[in-house]
Amino acid sequence: LEPLHQFMVRVRAAGGITTPAQWLALDGLSDSLANGTLKLTTRQSFQFHGILKRNLKPTIQTINEVLLSTLATCGDVNRNVMCSPNPYESTIHEEVYKLAGEISDYFLPNTTAYHEIWLDKEKVVGAPDVEPLYHHTYLPRKFKIALVIPPNNDVDVFANDLGLIAIEENNKVKGCNICVGGGLGSTFGMDTTYPRLADVIGFAPKEKIIEVAKTIIEIQRDYGNREERKLSRLKHTIDDRGLEWFVTELHTRLGWNLSRPYPYSFTSNGDTYGWLKGINEKWFYTLFVEHGRVKDEKGYTLKTSLKEIAQLHRGDFRLTGNQNLIIGNVAEKDKEIIEAILEKNGVKNHPKLTGLRKSSMACVALNTCGLAFAESERYLPSLIDKLDVIMKDNGLEDDEITIRMTGCPNNCARSSLGEIGFVGRAIGRYNLYLGASHNGDRLNSLYKEMLSEKDIIKELEPIIATYSKERNKGEHFGDFVIRKKIVNKTDRPLKVLSS
Ligand code: SF4
Repeated sequence: LEPLHQFMVRVRAAGGITTPAQWLALDGLSDSLANGTLKLTTRQSFQFHGILKRNLKPTIQTINEVLLSTLATCGDVNRNVMCSPNPYESTIHEEVYKLAGEISDYFLPNTTAYHEIWLDKEKVVGAPDVEPLYHHTYLPRKFKIALVIPPNNDVDVFANDLGLIAIEENNKVKGCNICVGGGLGSTFGMDTTYPRLADVIGFAPKEKIIEVAKTIIEIQRDYGNREERKLSRLKHTIDDRGLEWFVTELHTRLGWNLSRPYPYSFTSNGDTYGWLKGINEKWFYTLFVEHGRVKDEKGYTLKTSLKEIAQLHRGDFRLTGNQNLIIGNVAEKDKEIIEAILEKNGVKNHPKLTGLRKSSMACVALNTCGLAFAESERYLPSLIDKLDVIMKDNGLEDDEITIRMTGCPNNCARSSLGEIGFVGRAIGRYNLYLGASHNGDRLNSLYKEMLSEKDIIKELEPIIATYSKERNKGEHFGDFVIRKKIVNKTDRPLKVLSS
């Protein structure tokens, strides 16, 4: 007998787009081999929890049969490539999404071991796999890439090792501003670790993006810290050697220089819910999925509704970087039936969809993440219930204040970019951070440590009340707490190189 080990399996889907057939396959897998739920992640992928060891292989095989994969969804390689999922306000979405797919494919490891072990492919005898990019030692740590289309920073582009801000000219992608060295994870008690936003170091034309990305990954491969994993992300390589060194090294290796970054502006890093018409005349329905957990509850049968929709839907499903779901590319004539299914399952109008809840994110944490110090996904909804009473008392129930919680400082739900951010310290205790911007371009700062729920309410109640009375017109909560000196502005601001 061996212990009943269970695993988490993560699916790779560049840009987070899947077909209805793929959705149905994943939905079926969650029932037959996992814990009956699907988790939509903050990086636009799916996670299955509770996969028993003996079910790992059939799970991975089923995922591959529907042309998705689990290859490079963990490990010291380039991970799932994120891409703004909302095409309704952009003429360049298709182009950017295609580029995300090309980047994703280009940086997959060359290994045949994955296919031999999980997909029962013939073992290739003879020369070992050649990894032209990763070499035999791979990267010092994971590497994350995201592409964003202004004005919505819905993928939190600055939280990535490599962020690409798409620049549009005459309805085409001219190229991207290149941002390097983002990463939000840290370790309590280790000051050499910290959340950091990516620096905007220049612009590259579209046809050179893969060359630039490859060169940046090569620099990290060659110079990244391989002795201490906690100091081994690209942000540490850049901070240890200096941004100037990094840019010079990049230009030298490229043999040409990035040009000055193009102007861009972001309005928010959240999602816009409900129906929106795309520039292709098709409709897109953004559905709130609390903390990305797709499951059925009494009177709110979300999982059933999405399965029913997938059985007749001719468009696609798009995962957002905020753990929500877009039912995409819906023809005008199909809108009604999709609405009817959502209505029938009690999903069309979430019973408690306040501004705060709409803007919330939480990582998995307990009881499936072995690194968690505290609850997150299972706790934040009830904390929001209590905060919503305060918000309502102050006339703020529709105000969208970004609120994020993680069970540890690895920061999977990007707490450092919450206008209100919580990081678990111990069971029932959280550090509270305040003052991130509403559009993801400024980190928050530590406000108080080791707070219980009672402490959290006690601390936030007067701040929310003052915000309601003393904010300037249109002033976001994160900006307000800084203007009022409730917290200091982060000492790690976003850098934009102008030449
Ligand atoms: Fe686990 Fe920490 Fe990531 Fe939450 S932030 S899922 S607790 S590693």
